[in-house]
Parts: sequence; structure tokens; C-alpha cells
Amino acid sequence: VIESPKQDSPFRREQPAQKDVHEIMRWVQAGDIREVDPSPIPLALRLRKPELVPPAFAPFSPALEKPIHTLVLNGIDRQPGIWLRKAITKNFSSDILETIPLLKDVTGASRVFFAFSKGAEPGEEFLKGLRELGVEPVSCPNVYPIGLNPLLIPFLTGQEIPFNSGGARQFGIVVIDVATALKVHGTAHGEIPSVEVVIQVTAPSAGIDTLVRVRQGTLIEDVLSALSISKKDLAKVLCGGPFLGTALHRFDIPITQEIDSIFLQTEREIIRYADEACVNCGYCVQHCPMKLMPNELSKNCEYGNFNVAEGMDIFSCIECGICAYVCPVNRPMVQLICFGKREIEAARKES
Ligand code: SF4
Ligand code: SF4
Repeated sequence: VIESPKQDSPFRREQPAQKDVHEIMRWVQAGDIREVDPSPIPLALRLRKPELVPPAFAPFSPALEKPIHTLVLNGIDRQPGIWLRKAITKNFSSDILETIPLLKDVTGASRVFFAFSKGAEPGEEFLKGLRELGVEPVSCPNVYPIGLNPLLIPFLTGQEIPFNSGGARQFGIVVIDVATALKVHGTAHGEIPSVEVVIQVTAPSAGIDTLVRVRQGTLIEDVLSALSISKKDLAKVLCGGPFLGTALHRFDIPITQEIDSIFLQTEREIIRYADEACVNCGYCVQHCPMKLMPNELSKNCEYGNFNVAEGMDIFSCIECGICAYVCPVNRPMVQLICFGKREIEAARKES
């Protein structure tokens, strides 16, 4: 049995030498900073230029041997209804600016972008600070899902990242979102970053849409009681936001670093998917940002034709949920596609 010392310690440690990127990166690695946007290479390795990669790790990924030419700071929120990154950019602008020289140093990138949504421009002072640091601020269309890396990277750099290519690092590009950059800043200033997370809590029925800072492992139900949100009327929690979240029907789930938002719905607010046949309207094909054929993909997954779905590039689906959102007969498109991906992966493991 592990006994709690029952002390509310401040979670600080000795501050690393500010100029020593090796030491800071060792702390970033030890701090186990994990990101909301999935990447095949962990942050502490992905950020390092080849000469900073410890020899023990280099053979694991040929991508780590590639020089980094472009660094992208992503200030765009991942999905509609979420404003966490906007708030971080606004409230921690000086911390973000302070972190940029470190990120430039560690990556060796010659080109640095700061991406923000059109209509959510950061303050003039921040933009001036970016330009002084040689960073190019880029206003991106306010269209979902431009904040997700598979769309943002081609928009900024013209480089497409195929899903099976080993990620953007393979092409000399590194993306870090502002929330993660803030954790790197904390690490460089003596905090132990993986202990606390900032999440957005949205409960339309209770009129709540706010940011809270919680310790990792805090149960969702404890966050609800701290915000005086009654569990009584809630039927569902979307862990990770309204479009990209995982639907759960219980509240004794711990908050982890990979969760940036929780979206709470009452029974009346839940969108029910239907067991309806596709009416071939084509809306999902028209709106899919990855230029896939969601109608055919979902049908093939539904009927177990996984090889056909694989041949139709199912793994390029970023699970953005737009196809399900526009489908007039409410087909469970993302669920079917995710089911297909899991079946294909399971078959690969068996063979
Ligand atoms: S979830 Fe649907 S719309 Fe989004 S990428 Fe996948 S198939 Fe396309
Ligand atoms: S939007 Fe729905 S009904 Fe229309 S083609 Fe796509 S899956 Fe079929």
C-alpha cells in the first residue's frame, strides 16, 4: 500500500541552467510531456535536431537523423467550441515568446511559423514579439479542421504528410501546440509539467464554459462538483471535445494529459446515430477534408470488407467527424471507420 504523505507540495524542483538545452531537454523527457495531437515520435525526441538526439535513440527512427528546417507553433484550436489555445496565447503570451528561442535552438529550424485562426488574431504586442524573434505569424482560414496537423502542415508548408510516412519529422517539420510549448516553458523554469493540466469544461445545460487547472488523475466527477455542475441531468461526456472526443457514459474517469477538454451533454442534447442506409447524397464526400469517400469507407467497414476499405486509404481518415455531422440520415460514420481501422490492425498483428 502506498501511503499518501498528505502534503500539498508545490511541485517544483531546481531550475535547470537556462542556456543548457541538453539539460532542459533531459527534463522535458523526464517530465513525460504528452500531447493532445498524436505523433509517432515523443515530443522530447521529435524536437531535437539530429546532433542533440542521444545515440541510444537514433537507430529507433531514421526520421530523427533528418535536419529540422521548419518549426510550427500551433495556436489554432483543434475543433469548434474549444478556445483553450486562444486563451493560452492571450494569457501566457510572454511565456510563449520566452520559449521560442529555446525551441529554435533545440530544433535548429531556420523557418518558424506561428499559426492562428483568422478572426482570432493575437494582440499587436505579441505579433511584434514574434517578428522580432524571426517568427512568421500566419493567419489561417477559420475552417475546421485546419488546426489539426494533417491539414495545417500542407497549408503552411505545401508538404503533404502521408499517414504511413513516419510523421512530419521525417520531412524536417516539427509542430508544437501552444499548450505544449507552455509546458516546455514550465520545465525550463523548474516546474514538473506532467502533474497538472489545463482543460476546458463545457456544459451548455449548466451555462458553463470555462478553463480549469487540475492535477492529472482528478476524476471528472470531482471537477464537476468543484464547478457545482450536477451529474443528475448529464448523460454523456465527450472527453476531448464535441467533434474529436471519446464518448463516455460515466464520470469516474481520470483526467490525463491527452485530454484538453470535456464536453458534457444531457439526454436531450445527445445526437443519436441511426441504423439507416446511405441515401447517396454525396455530402460527406463533398466535405471530407482528407478527400476520402466516407460513404464507401463506412459501408465497407459495416459489411466487413476491410481490405477494400484499406485500399480506399482508410488510415488517412483523421476522425474529424465532419462526414457524420453533414450526413442527413445520421449514419455513425466515424464509429464505422474506427471499427474498420481496429479490425485491419488486429488482422495485421495476427498475420
Ligand atoms: S471523419 Fe469523415 S470527414 Fe473526417 S477525415 Fe474521416 S472520412 Fe473524412
Ligand atoms: S452524407 Fe450520409 S447519406 Fe449522404 S452519401 Fe454520405 S453517408 Fe450517404
